[in-house]
Amino acid sequence: MNYKDLADVMFPEAKEIAYYEEKYPERNLKEDAIVTRIAPSPTGFVHIGGLYQGLIAKKLANQTEGVFFLRIEDTDQKREVENGVVGIVNSLTDFGLEPDEGMISENEEKGTYGPYKQSNRKEIYQAYAKYLIEQGKAYPCFCTPEEVEEIRNKQEVAKIRPGYYGAWAKCRNLTVEEMIEKIKAGESWIVRFKSPGREDRKIRHKDVIKGNVEFPENDQDIVIIKADGLPTYHFAHAIDDHLMRTTHVIRGDEWLSSVPLHLQLFQELGFKAPKYAHIAPIMKNEEGNKRKLSKRKDPEAAVSYYAEVGIPKEAVKEYLLNIANSTFENWRRANPEKPIEEFELQLNKMSVSGALFDIVKLLDVSKIVISKMTAEQVYQNTLTWAEKYDEELATLFKKYKAYSLKVLGIERGNKKPRKDIGKWSDVKETISYMYDELFEQDKTAYPYQVIKDKDAISKILNTYVTKYYDEKDDKQAWFDKIKELAGEMGYAKEVKQFKENPGQYAAHVGDVSTVLRVALTKRTNTPDMYEIMQVLGKEKVKERLQTAERQCQ
Ligand code: GLU
Repeated sequence: MNYKDLADVMFPEAKEIAYYEEKYPERNLKEDAIVTRIAPSPTGFVHIGGLYQGLIAKKLANQTEGVFFLRIEDTDQKREVENGVVGIVNSLTDFGLEPDEGMISENEEKGTYGPYKQSNRKEIYQAYAKYLIEQGKAYPCFCTPEEVEEIRNKQEVAKIRPGYYGAWAKCRNLTVEEMIEKIKAGESWIVRFKSPGREDRKIRHKDVIKGNVEFPENDQDIVIIKADGLPTYHFAHAIDDHLMRTTHVIRGDEWLSSVPLHLQLFQELGFKAPKYAHIAPIMKNEEGNKRKLSKRKDPEAAVSYYAEVGIPKEAVKEYLLNIANSTFENWRRANPEKPIEEFELQLNKMSVSGALFDIVKLLDVSKIVISKMTAEQVYQNTLTWAEKYDEELATLFKKYKAYSLKVLGIERGNKKPRKDIGKWSDVKETISYMYDELFEQDKTAYPYQVIKDKDAISKILNTYVTKYYDEKDDKQAWFDKIKELAGEMGYAKEVKQFKENPGQYAAHVGDVSTVLRVALTKRTNTPDMYEIMQVLGKEKVKERLQTAERQCQ
């Protein structure tokens, strides 16, 4: 009896690996094309770190005319949730990170290197496990979980390295006959890799992000096929990334210490190893300390958060590139109008220790991104968001579409557009005074500033409406009239004049403007008041000023 007999007893149905090697040939791409992927588990939660990895992977593939694919790693079926794949697919699609190949819904996929869901690749893993067994590089292990636990306890007591290795690897030394006998007797088994490594030897490896790393060799006989017939992550990774012809494994750096094992697996399987790029997690600054962005503590860790508060995907992506490569900021400064697709991302410029994620900075980026959008784009995006999260706003936007476009057009489309909207959920607050329905809900007092005296205010408002206000005025004429009004009221017509003669005037033209602004909007800070009046229109302007005047009596 030899290893071949053993392999046949264990996996009688498995195909020869030549079949798969032929079925998934080398990809016909240009030499430095990057084939890469994201390989999430469908656990129901899409972390912003996953999106970050997806963005980086897709960008590199695009930049090099390579391939970006989505593989679903569902071999740990305990952790799976229903519709987990759809959640991942939708998140990627929402952010414009559709893969070239891979899963496109819960059970559908595209591409010729599939199946792209690991639970559908069982026979492939088994074929390769069989192949290793035939060469004596893997073996069945009959240890029960209790026995493995016992080994562990002994190791703990003796204060030695835990694990199934060397002399501790009981089943490694069974004869082929013994193994076959146990299998035939119906004992349950799993498959372990027979590691050729030695812990006292080091391996050196160059990670694309982390640079040179050194680790002890792997000497653990890790499980490659579990009792349910599915592979472990390690084995599946080697098989999948080989057969899918991945050139770059871009993944979280929690896997860095598994590199010795992975390289060993590639070696023993006779595969060429891919390049590895281990990405440090996204970090958050908490009172001076850096910590990982946490699913439990930080709402912004969930990709769903951005849609909920209405931060546009363009802004999220722009910000993620900002923290991915320090060169992005300069590039953006030099190319304020270019789409991010034109930025050349470099893996070796990624942070080794973890990029800091700051939601305030993200919102600043978002404000710039939104400031460059047209009124129509802001309208559509806000409406889409509001239809889900703010019915009142959605109703107003639909009822007054043309008017809303004008409102959103205030200080937009010029050289220095207004940057007051960072997320769609800000929109209502920034423009609520432009809608009577919302303005009338505001029961707060008018926040008058320097000019507070009721009679003075009443007089300003009354005189302005009856004598000066003309909706047909251009901006210059409009402002000249406010100056006139200031003069007529005994205030300084120019701020300069006011400053030069302190004590002579109680207020100046700016203070008169503030009275008008507050009367119109109940705010002290708004975009350009001339534009506001133009958009509100004659009737509404008069009505608001008169209402405010009445409140002075
Ligand atoms: N399923 C693994 C994870 O979610 C993927 C790691 C990899 O990209 O290879 O961490």
